[in-house]
Amino acid sequence: MIDIKAIASGSSGNCYRVSDGSTALLLDAGISIYKIQQGLDFRLSEIAGALISHEHMDHAKAVPDLAKRGVLIFGPPGVAKACACPSILSGPPLRRFTIDTWSIVPFQVEHDVTCYGYLLDSKKTGDRLVYITDAAAVPYTFGRVTYMMIEANYSLRILSRRATGGAIKDELAARIAQSHMDIDGAVDILRRLDPRALKQVWLLHLSDGNSDAEAFRRMAQRATGAEVYIA
Ligand SMILES: [Zn+2]
Ligand SMILES: [Zn+2]
Repeated sequence: MIDIKAIASGSSGNCYRVSDGSTALLLDAGISIYKIQQGLDFRLSEIAGALISHEHMDHAKAVPDLAKRGVLIFGPPGVAKACACPSILSGPPLRRFTIDTWSIVPFQVEHDVTCYGYLLDSKKTGDRLVYITDAAAVPYTFGRVTYMMIEANYSLRILSRRATGGAIKDELAARIAQSHMDIDGAVDILRRLDPRALKQVWLLHLSDGNSDAEAFRRMAQRATGAEVYIA
């Protein structure tokens, strides 16, 4: 059993706590350290490490403060530079490393800067969790996953309607479509997972104007039969 808590999700900041009962990690830290503290009920000292997907501030805002507090931080090479924080650990995609009871493999996804997804195996529970955000495309398939956390930023239908109606500029719509995952892309990835293994699906980073949380939840539910949560 993995405990997942969405502390923040969306374009104004992303931060999730995942724990296998022995080791708690943060996935992204794109909100202030104060909000992270509140979200953790002031138990930051129990966090064994933070895995950062990429350097954009809605994912990396609290990195300097976490580093100052001595939290172990891992991310793609751009994070250390963007946050002016040389103590951040990095490594190439597909090289496995461990943080206590978690065995972790970063993998690269398609975004407008270098962005990592993470595959996490718990040695304690045997669960496998996959975290994917800010990914226009993911060049991998994942079979037996028990917890899937995946971006479902927008619906192409809603985005096109709003761009056509002038509610959103064409350039912004194009940028979103080229650098983020829409619900159909997320459902495609979900369909390829082993449904017998899958326990929970978390849909992440929904756009305020370009998504429909309830419709997305139903689509993910139909595709997997698993419990679906909107972060
Ligand atoms: Zn981004
Ligand atoms: Zn983002």
